[in-house]
Amino acid sequence: MPRRQLPFFENVTILDAGAEGKAVARVNDLVVFVPFCVPGDIVDIQVISKRKSYCEGKAIKFHYYSELRAEPFCEHFGTCGGCRWQNLPYELQLKYKQKQVDDHFTRIGKFSFPPIKPILASPLTTGYRNKLEYTFSDRRWLNADDMALPAEERQGNGLGFHIPTLFDRVLDIKHCYHQPEPSNAIRLAVRDFTLQKGWSYYNPRSHEGFMRNLLIRNAIAGDLMVIVVFAYNAPEEISQLMTFIADSFPQITSLVYVINTKQNDVITDQEMLLWKGEPYITETMEAPVAGGKKLQFRIGPVSFYQTNPLQAYFLYKTAFELAGFTGNELVYDLYCGTGTITNFVAPYVKKAIGVEYVPSAIDDAHINSELNGIDNTVFYAGDLAKVLNDDFVRLNGRPDVVITDPPRNGMHEDVVKQILKIGPLKVVYVSCNSATQARDIALMDEKYKVEAVQPVDMFPHTHHVENVVLLTLR
Ligand code: SAH
Repeated sequence: MPRRQLPFFENVTILDAGAEGKAVARVNDLVVFVPFCVPGDIVDIQVISKRKSYCEGKAIKFHYYSELRAEPFCEHFGTCGGCRWQNLPYELQLKYKQKQVDDHFTRIGKFSFPPIKPILASPLTTGYRNKLEYTFSDRRWLNADDMALPAEERQGNGLGFHIPTLFDRVLDIKHCYHQPEPSNAIRLAVRDFTLQKGWSYYNPRSHEGFMRNLLIRNAIAGDLMVIVVFAYNAPEEISQLMTFIADSFPQITSLVYVINTKQNDVITDQEMLLWKGEPYITETMEAPVAGGKKLQFRIGPVSFYQTNPLQAYFLYKTAFELAGFTGNELVYDLYCGTGTITNFVAPYVKKAIGVEYVPSAIDDAHINSELNGIDNTVFYAGDLAKVLNDDFVRLNGRPDVVITDPPRNGMHEDVVKQILKIGPLKVVYVSCNSATQARDIALMDEKYKVEAVQPVDMFPHTHHVENVVLLTLR
């Protein structure tokens, strides 16, 4: 339907902060989702897409700005897809995240649960991320100032984040508050160097251009990894840029480049070429109990590690404490990634078994056990829906505790069924999507009782919320 035929609503009051970071309004019986609004705002809304029971809209005019509003601190707010809740004070962000879990558990769940514990706030609300990935593009997003310039004066290259829903448009980032310095300094230096040289930036439609991606990863104690992705091999230019980065930022402990000639941006299947330093960074984490041995985790260029490392500790500690280990337990850690939770709990249980379907993550998990002198872990690479069968349980033993941390779409129904069949005394369910978590728990309701619900904020200024649930066998 052409846009002009879609409804235009005037003087609508925003009611709630809802799904996917969009605010919620109601016009008659229709739910309208509008980004970048705050409960209490009064706006005119142009509907941009319409479904049966809801529609998506855009705030065209603000008649009243809610008293709940906070001033966004980032100049890119409103264009960048990154931090959509910056216009809400942090305290309110926490409130709405808590409410999101409550809503999902009440509406989707249809099971009883105790009062949800107050959400754990993130120790840092800016500079909390340990990883950012930037994209080079010859189709920079042009703002109003750019558009005012004559076409030939508009500089088209940009280095930053994709504009939401526009895969070929990149917002040139001046400053991002997500990662501690020197993240911005590195990005800006690489940008200036390559622009001065006149090197081409990638175009994802024509697949032309030299500079593709820049990844920056850091560890709490200071290790710093930079990965530059080029679209083709040009040894002289690559050498110039890598030397420039190494000389300008001596604090980099791992400098890597990749030549990705494929059409897609995925680099996990590409060779990591080490320019300087170690081929990994090392993250450290406190033990879950006072006086316990600190843990170390080795993170390669493509290894998974929770992106808010300070809060990851509290997430894992929550899971650990809810499990209430005595020391004799056999534990399954499902969807274990690089085995971080498996290794975190292993010193305090009899044996911990991690399962994950990315083989390189399982390689990392083994390395991390070894690095920490942990010898009571076992890891398997495979799809849980297939691997977690009766033979697996016969071979490895029936677990006392199952920890599960699936991706956003939750557990496969067969995995839920198998957990029910195994019948561990406790299930600790860590989730990054309380909607699918509620769906899965509902399937387990007959056999398992929800004993505790603890939301954890891993991603300040976004709508994302992590949630840990303890289930006990009825
Ligand atoms: N617990 C880990 C990572 C959890 S992320 C940590 O805290 O670091 C979820 C993990 O599930 C990812 O590593 C993903 O690769 C894995 N995964 C997704 N679907 C899977 C499946 N069907 N079988 C096994 N692992 C899967």
